[in-house]
Amino acid sequence: MSDEKINLDEIWPQERDFIFRPDRLKYVRRLKNSETCVFCLSAKEKEPCFDRLLIYKTEHSQIVLNKYPYNNGHLIVCPLKHGGSIFDLTDEEYMDLMKLVRLSSKLVKSVYPAQGLNIGINHEKAAGAGIPDHLHWHVIPRWFGDTNFFPIIAETKVLPETLEQSYEKLSKGLKTILDSKDKN
Ligand SMILES: [Zn+2]
Repeated sequence: MSDEKINLDEIWPQERDFIFRPDRLKYVRRLKNSETCVFCLSAKEKEPCFDRLLIYKTEHSQIVLNKYPYNNGHLIVCPLKHGGSIFDLTDEEYMDLMKLVRLSSKLVKSVYPAQGLNIGINHEKAAGAGIPDHLHWHVIPRWFGDTNFFPIIAETKVLPETLEQSYEKLSKGLKTILDSKDKN
């Protein structure tokens, strides 16, 4: 299957899988295999690219911009390899992943800057994972008063910047962090 034929709109879950609120998930889209998995598609890219929302990758892990962010700057950190369980990762893969969760947190706080963060995971379908077949952490910037009634009653949220703008800001911010000595 050619990557170019896959439309991200068709394989990203339309429902927002906001952490700690699995009750808001109306359904979970079933993914047949790694060929139709958004995180496997981004993992195949050698370099960061907006088309796949890939911001950064290491030997085992990647940072992806969430196509349906809860807030601007909502990042997803996941392994390069397909699989839905933390128990399938080696210690090395798990450590690499956790380092990227921390790097993503630093990135979001520095770029926006967030007053707080939601950092977390819905592990497996029963816990509300939007993409249960490919393990992923959410890193979400939060501000006091950033929740209003719209997301609660209408599953709709007005965001002040486009995905393109977020991608550009985060990519620049990441370069600044990686170029500095203090990466942690
Ligand atoms: Zn996958």
